[in-house]
Amino acid sequence: MKYPTVLNQLMEHFRKIPGVGQKTAERYALHILTHFDPETTDAFAQTLHQLNASIRPCPTCGFLTDQEVCDICRDTTRDEAQLIVVEEVKDVIVFENTHTFNGRYHVLGGALSPSEGIAPEDLNIESLKTRVQAGNIQEMIVATNFSEAGETTALYLQHIFQDHPVELTRIGYGLPAGGNISYADEITLNKAIEGRRKMH
Ligand SMILES: [Zn+2]
Repeated sequence: MKYPTVLNQLMEHFRKIPGVGQKTAERYALHILTHFDPETTDAFAQTLHQLNASIRPCPTCGFLTDQEVCDICRDTTRDEAQLIVVEEVKDVIVFENTHTFNGRYHVLGGALSPSEGIAPEDLNIESLKTRVQAGNIQEMIVATNFSEAGETTALYLQHIFQDHPVELTRIGYGLPAGGNISYADEITLNKAIEGRRKMH
């Protein structure tokens, strides 16, 4: 006994989400079919449709926006002198949730990994150089993950910015080796920012 094609297709879409297996996909798809009214289902579809049409990376920092530049880059009350460099968009949210940092961010869009073929040109490093060369950034707080790729990326940033008039610091205190920034709690992250150390 098989489900109708469209229902199977919906399950296949859900299964592409990390952590969603066959049973969960089935539950989601059947829930939408049987519990959502038609307006809700249409609104859901509309939202998905608008995702790619309206949201794009901020050309300055790489965070997501539906405007010319993102809210954080536009916010003139934020300190331009401090920049937290992270791997992923969701890491910005994690730091924002600590409510203590009032500088800006730069999203690299991943981390260097020779084994996975991820090279500097695959990351938002040119735009980072451009920002540093503009001269307003005094401190770059490197908040890549404590994985091999994250550490490789931190060392690479240290290397390319060693002759620039910007101080590089690395967050660290309290974060475990191999640790992922996204999973750190707010207190740990606050301590990690406070306990950052100079890289050169
Ligand atoms: Zn931005």
